[in-house]
Amino acid sequence: MIILKSYVCGEWREGDAPRQILIDPSTGAAVAEAGTGGVDMAAVVRYGREVGGPALREMTFAERGALLKTMSKVLYEAREELIAASILNAGTTRTDAKFDIDGATGTLAYYAGLGKSLGDRRFLVEGEGEQLTRSARFWGHHIKLPRRGVALHINAFNFPAWGLFEKAAVALLAGMPVVTKPATATALLAYRCMEKVVQSGGLPDGAMQLLCGSAGDLLEHVESQDVLAFTGSGSTGELLRGLKSVVAKSVRVNVEADSLNAAVLAEDIEVGSETYQMFIRDTAREVTQKTGQKCTAIRRIFLPEAVADRVAEDLGEEIAQVKIGAPGAEGARMGPLASEQQFNDVHAGLARLIEGGARPVWGSATEMDVVGRDGDVGYYVGPVLLRHDDPGAAEAVHSHEVFGPVATLLPYTSFGEVPGWVALGEGSLLTTLYTDDKKALGGMIAELAPYTGRLLVGSKKVADQSISPGIVLPSCVHGGPGRAGGGEELGGLRGLDFYMQRTAIQGDRAILDRVLEVRTSEG
Ligand code: NAP
Repeated sequence: MIILKSYVCGEWREGDAPRQILIDPSTGAAVAEAGTGGVDMAAVVRYGREVGGPALREMTFAERGALLKTMSKVLYEAREELIAASILNAGTTRTDAKFDIDGATGTLAYYAGLGKSLGDRRFLVEGEGEQLTRSARFWGHHIKLPRRGVALHINAFNFPAWGLFEKAAVALLAGMPVVTKPATATALLAYRCMEKVVQSGGLPDGAMQLLCGSAGDLLEHVESQDVLAFTGSGSTGELLRGLKSVVAKSVRVNVEADSLNAAVLAEDIEVGSETYQMFIRDTAREVTQKTGQKCTAIRRIFLPEAVADRVAEDLGEEIAQVKIGAPGAEGARMGPLASEQQFNDVHAGLARLIEGGARPVWGSATEMDVVGRDGDVGYYVGPVLLRHDDPGAAEAVHSHEVFGPVATLLPYTSFGEVPGWVALGEGSLLTTLYTDDKKALGGMIAELAPYTGRLLVGSKKVADQSISPGIVLPSCVHGGPGRAGGGEELGGLRGLDFYMQRTAIQGDRAILDRVLEVRTSEG
């Protein structure tokens, strides 16, 4: 069985036993071991700060962009091998594996392009600055420089490739060295990706380190110039941001956590219309893609009471097209959940929603056809649609994320109540809204947007153009208020701010403009 090593202090290091066993979720068979026993975490962060940091800061944005471009290329070239690793250890179908891996290469390529456009600079200046007194000479600029610490990235199990590189791309472009830790249960793909990146030879020493296994005492060694970006469950996020070491050093923290994303079908949408079909397609995909184990998956569906039965039927029909199966099986589009723990959590979560008043209206978590399954092995679960007829009182539906192919229909009789019910989720990553009512749209955006990091407006003009709502585009911010962690990542150049110190520089404009190489609108 393969032992996943960590890439630390410039070399591959096997963790001491005991190590965690990683499985193939479609069979339950052990496929790898991983652990960080014996890894000196203090040395890891020091190596990042003292070796990786200076090397990255020496590079221009264009050079860092070129590094990201190489990373994207080597991962793309290894795509087939990486897909195999994802199938083996995450139980993903081929399509879901590609979704994760292409997300990683696409995000790297996007930030490579931004690096190129920033050119031969090593720091950023915001705009042309401000005159600070009556004298036109006394001027203020805001500049941004990479922080002098290390970026600690702790990721969730569901996107071992995309999750790793969407964070790493931004940090490296900003000029900060990275220590990245994938969730142990599905670390094989992250390990394979890192192997490729290291083999490419372009990575400056110390710029990127990988921990395969527990974080150990890593976070006890944080310093004030370090940053911590975490993706995972709300409870772990709460624990990490409250750590004494993190609080005492005012370590900058970004949390991407649970999210009870909502889809809202407005009253004006007629059954069968283009916008309605878009709503059905999007929602079915968001319930089933990656077996519902996506932070942006739709969990709550708000819809007019009058069409609730019809929607359950149409959505069920669309979901039924998604064949459940062993990742390699012909036609399989939805694989198993990623682990036994996830399997148990999804069943427990489903029971909790039902106890809270939701009733199943379509599908079954336990009775389904699974193509290519060997007996009854594997952590498969069937998609389920629930319905709760009293959305205002559906406490469990608004507060408990079932991390699997499960969503709840929440019928309304008056649209005015919907924003308040959406808000009961206490903040999400994504809300989708389907309406062709141009007059009412402004009001709907104003009511929904404060509770979500991203709002996708589906309408007939974009019905055949819009991409899957769950796709996290590097050009748009990802993150959400409240339960979603209160964080923000990506969003083009906005994402770099987390890794940079913004400093106001005040003084003689002529000198500052020259030193800071300010390019005014006159050129
Ligand atoms: P998790 O159990 O919280 O684990 C997340 C990461 O934290 C793993 O790498 C885990 O390491 C690590 N970790 C756990 N305890 C730690 C500690 N005390 N110190 C340092 N690291 C620690 O979450 P998960 O089960 O992997 O992910 C599922 C959740 O992630 C879902 O709720 C989902 O909504 C959320 N998610 C959110 C987003 C987003 O962008 N908002 C994206 C994806 C997933 P080990 O694996 O080694 O335990």
